[in-house]
Amino acid sequence: MPDFDVVVVGGGPSGLTAATALSRAGHSVALLERELFGGNLQHAAWIQDYPACPSGITGAELAADLIEQATAAGATLEQAEMFTLELFSRSRWVACPDGRGFSCSVVILACGTQFEHAGLANEDRLRGRGVIDCTPCDVGFFVGQPVAIYGASEYAIEDARYLASMGAQVTLLAPTSEGEASAEVRSRLDGVGSRYGVRLDEIVGQDLVEAIVVQDTTTGARDRLAVRGVAIRLGLVANSDALKDLLECDAQGKVQTDERLETSARYVLACGDVRSGSLARVASAIEDGHAVAARAAQLLVELATH
Ligand SMILES: Cc1cc2nc3c(=O)[nH]c(=O)nc-3n(C[C@H](O)[C@H](O)[C@H](O)COP(=O)(O)OP(=O)(O)OC[C@H]3O[C@@H](n4cnc5c(N)ncnc54)[C@H](O)[C@@H]3O)c2cc1C
Repeated sequence: MPDFDVVVVGGGPSGLTAATALSRAGHSVALLERELFGGNLQHAAWIQDYPACPSGITGAELAADLIEQATAAGATLEQAEMFTLELFSRSRWVACPDGRGFSCSVVILACGTQFEHAGLANEDRLRGRGVIDCTPCDVGFFVGQPVAIYGASEYAIEDARYLASMGAQVTLLAPTSEGEASAEVRSRLDGVGSRYGVRLDEIVGQDLVEAIVVQDTTTGARDRLAVRGVAIRLGLVANSDALKDLLECDAQGKVQTDERLETSARYVLACGDVRSGSLARVASAIEDGHAVAARAAQLLVELATH
């Protein structure tokens, strides 16, 4: 017999609510999370557009609520990373880089997305030491400090506004030209320093970020800016590196599913932001996990065990 009826990979809103629904229905469920339980909710300072919380809620509070529900329902929450997935005729095996493994009848992939990396030498080494991954988690370190946000995405603009509102000295560095920024975007950046048409070339620092080097994309001139923090907010990419050889994915690397959220592999479902066609909102991630994937997983567990 497998260890669990269902292993859910990813502890964001989609995975947590799928785990809650399945546990409440009497299934044994392990939920694996490699970083922060709550997923991208932990990156959202304030969520205004989730209809179940009409007055708005911080991402951290909503995450805590969903974690509490999954735990109370009886799901086993494990700090663990899926490294690969092995598919056998009678069971599935989720393998972790630390040697652990979890066998199950059905796998739900709720791996979501992460901020795209710029691919710079010190980016990973100084993550958490000035390279900002989770802005609401780290904002306290940057009050009164110079911070750069690199990117022109909605996340770049929101992080720039949020950090400035909390007292950081923020400069937005956009790879796009000023003409590409709408008047609406420019008005939202009132009070935030901004430079357009620049590329982030280098992050400088031994133990902590000390400076960055940027290049003007028109003139080629390079500048060193003293900063204590830098957030790279070019956009989001799917967490599907471990899956691309196993499952059909779209051009953006998102996992393709049918309307029941079944992937190209039998007994493997995908839900939330990692699946092709997802709307990348909390409400749709929760609907996917809680309503669709959990229901499909129940039927598949029955099929696998009878
Ligand atoms: C800054 C920001 C602000 C946002 N604001 C809003 C908002 O105001 N309103 C709104 O509706 N939506 C907002 N969103 C979008 C919303 O957060 C996402 O749509 C939602 O979190 C998606 O949920 P998910 O469970 O599919 O994936 P995620 O939340 O991305 O969670 C996936 C989890 O899987 C884990 N994981 C990935 N790979 C593995 C692996 N191999 N092994 C183990 N664990 C793994 C990740 O660490 C992560 O915790 C925001 C997103 C961001 C980034």
